[in-house]
Amino acid sequence: MGKPTGFMEYTRTLPVVRPPAERISDWQEFHLHSPEAVLREQGARCMDCGVPFCHTGRILGGAASGCPINNLIPEWNDLVYRGHWREALSRLHHTNNFPEFTGRVCPAPCEGSCVLGISDNPVTIKTIEQAIIDKGFEAGWVVPEPPSVRTGKEIAVIGSGPAGLACASLGNRLRKSRSGWRTVDVWHSQYEAGKDTG
Ligand code: SF4
Repeated sequence: MGKPTGFMEYTRTLPVVRPPAERISDWQEFHLHSPEAVLREQGARCMDCGVPFCHTGRILGGAASGCPINNLIPEWNDLVYRGHWREALSRLHHTNNFPEFTGRVCPAPCEGSCVLGISDNPVTIKTIEQAIIDKGFEAGWVVPEPPSVRTGKEIAVIGSGPAGLACASLGNRLRKSRSGWRTVDVWHSQYEAGKDTG
């Protein structure tokens, strides 16, 4: 826990949103980046709960609760507070192949499950996640990690949405002892990855 009093000192602050009339004229992001100092304060609000409901994805009473991919949220909140962005990216990638997607489009059940939300506004988990991966790209920390040896065997993944690409990414790292790494091909009905298979 970076700052024991952070949740009492700082209020929840979300990124500035561009006006709708402006953003319909282009395809640019409509959430502007928050300054680093603000992001670090937001990370400081995390209480590093003994039972971090944000982190554990479960269905409770028919409703999704917590992060479905069990992101190590308290850990990277703390690292962001301390300004250790590269380490935060490493912890984020430990459970999440594509935070550049989830940091933007996930409905963030983690925030709905944040313990701080019982008595205050929850930690801005999704904003922090996006900031970590965006910083990673800006700094050049996100680079291809091709395996050094391949078996020549192939795995086919049907569909190139986020789930298919996550399968491909993990499959690419699958290693059978002494036989090297496998090649993963992603098949899709559209020309461009990520489009709906229809
Ligand atoms: S539940 Fe909220 S305050 Fe607790 S560890 Fe998770 S993000 Fe931090």
